[in-house]
Amino acid sequence: MARESNLRDAVCELGASLFNRGLTFGSAGNISVRIGDGWLMTPTNVSLGRLDPGRLAKLDLDGKLVSGDAPTKESVLHRAMYGERPDAGAVVHLHSTHSVAVSCLDGIDPANVLPPITAYYVMRVGRLPLVPYHPPGDRDLAEAVRRLAGKHHAVLLANHGPVVAGTSLDAAANAIEELEETAKLFLLLRGSKTRPLTEAQVAALS
Ligand SMILES: [Zn+2]
Repeated sequence: MARESNLRDAVCELGASLFNRGLTFGSAGNISVRIGDGWLMTPTNVSLGRLDPGRLAKLDLDGKLVSGDAPTKESVLHRAMYGERPDAGAVVHLHSTHSVAVSCLDGIDPANVLPPITAYYVMRVGRLPLVPYHPPGDRDLAEAVRRLAGKHHAVLLANHGPVVAGTSLDAAANAIEELEETAKLFLLLRGSKTRPLTEAQVAALS
């Protein structure tokens, strides 16, 4: 059980860190982590800045609540990721400002939303597909994520925000933060002539 209590603390520390740095606000955003027999998930209607390790929702492998507070209504997005990615140890979903701004732009490539501006973006995120808009928590939204999750550990929900899986909490957090910073750079560079990495430079990173 030591491992589960460590993971509970780690989820709360990550939530506070994201909140304190303005990457999430109000009760937006959610975090989950895989445990031996299911998942720990942040509860519905709670600020990531004030999570209580003892009240995280614990779900079994069928997604049923075992203990703790009711999970986020967006838990279906997390389960869609885990269902298609056996190596996923954690999932983070945010409504982080710059990523959401990009998700609202007209004319972006739905197969690859952001250009490969930096090597770290390519290594931590790769190709980022856009998931067509559906209302939050909608089953069709989870289904659309599921269809892309096998090939992509990071997806961007249109007019909503990113969902990112990682092998660990740290990996998922690092990837979603890299995505948010790249979205910010992309917006900063809009209107400027830019020089993204070439196909050969991208290929050399994989
Ligand atoms: Zn959301």
